[in-house]
Amino acid sequence: MKKTYSIKTFGCQMNFSDSEKLETILESENFEKVDEIYSSKIAIINSCAVRKSSEDRAVNLTKDLRKKNKDQIIIFTGCVEENFRSKDLAKMMPDVNVFLPISEMSELPEILRRVDENSQEFIPKIRNSVNYFSISPKLSSKFKAFVPIMTGCDKFCTYCVVPITRGAEESRPAREIIDEIKILIKKGVKEITLLGQNVNSYGTRSGRKSLSFQEIYKKGFWAENENSKTKIQNFENNENFHPFSQLVKQILEEIDEFFWLKFFSPHPNDFHKNLIEVAKNDERIARSFHIPLQSGSNKVLELMKRPHSADDVLNKILEIKKEIPDITFTTDIIVGFPNETEEDFQKTLKIVEKIGFVNIFTGKFSKRFRTPAWNFEETCDNTEKRRRDFVLNQLLESITLKHSESLVGKEVLCLVEEKLQDLENNQNQIFIGRLDSGKSVEFSIQSSQNKNLQIGDFVKVKILKAGMWRVWGEV
Ligand code: SF4
Repeated sequence: MKKTYSIKTFGCQMNFSDSEKLETILESENFEKVDEIYSSKIAIINSCAVRKSSEDRAVNLTKDLRKKNKDQIIIFTGCVEENFRSKDLAKMMPDVNVFLPISEMSELPEILRRVDENSQEFIPKIRNSVNYFSISPKLSSKFKAFVPIMTGCDKFCTYCVVPITRGAEESRPAREIIDEIKILIKKGVKEITLLGQNVNSYGTRSGRKSLSFQEIYKKGFWAENENSKTKIQNFENNENFHPFSQLVKQILEEIDEFFWLKFFSPHPNDFHKNLIEVAKNDERIARSFHIPLQSGSNKVLELMKRPHSADDVLNKILEIKKEIPDITFTTDIIVGFPNETEEDFQKTLKIVEKIGFVNIFTGKFSKRFRTPAWNFEETCDNTEKRRRDFVLNQLLESITLKHSESLVGKEVLCLVEEKLQDLENNQNQIFIGRLDSGKSVEFSIQSSQNKNLQIGDFVKVKILKAGMWRVWGEV
């Protein structure tokens, strides 16, 4: 059988970024990527445990793969494997040949030399054995790139499995991050997203003591042990020093070119005033921040063990808006958390409307194994969760339409992503692009005006018409 591989990725941008690294490893071993996962020799499932629906789809895929291809080597990696004991995993996914902690991905070539379709192996996690961050990703886009800067989370929200699956927070050396970004920019990348489960807590030690930037600069920070935990701290606990802001500042100082710098996913508590200051003074920081609110009810936030109130988030957003008036915000909301009443849900709707989030990643609460909320009694059935999800999305649609309408008549900067077609004897060209808030823009340009507009270019577009998720305009 030919040396072919395919990867199915579930979950967040971090998982997609990890899959790009897996591609580099496999291609350095002369494996060829194929799109058809059922026919490849190696099938990698890069899974997610944050939502039950993703985990279920990943588990079902393993069964389906084996049914259709008896000779395939199935490798299971990502966020799931550390949440279960080996014997539970073997029972849940008997068709998987290798369970691989994502941090051990550099072991893959060696594993592939010994594994066969009849064996089953559990690769142990040897913490800090390899800095897997430094494996270069095989970029799936020529002009957009994800750069992981930290992994893990020390915050232990009661519903979230990330601190269990990804472990304690670890931060990559700043020097390595900046060098990687410089190379990407030289290659023509125009949008860089700094990634981490708790991206703006970069460089802070478990227990929340900050390191000096010099230490983080050279060595990064690696967790001392898997169970190192932090105490929940007060909002914005360190007045003067914030390693993430320092990192962002240094990236911008060392690079002259124009590009968009984004970061995902930040925590409201780690949104330091220094970061607002850096963003205010440099338009290369995308004018759209993601600030996970999760709920508008303080009672529910307490049950979630979120270390902030709804007003803390609102005040932080007002503080940012005061400094950067043209900024937009997106958020995460969980509906149907145990004990969330209709009154609590109404509080969420109220604050969502007040802030005017232009996009919301809504999650219907589902229990995750080994999290504290696993033992909470569900008080909201699926029908009610779906209703709350629907109501929230209706509100979102009206907010995002208003935001689109506010753009009509304005000139906005957009990153060109796709050329649609030439119209009317090549007189006009149609392109699709994206604003830094993520909103899609369809625009036309007269061929005579700019024949050389390329995918991956920045261009100013005058907005003429508004839709909910897309606006239309011309150059
Ligand atoms: S801060 Fe985010 S990643 Fe960390 S436990 Fe809470 S929800 Fe999960």
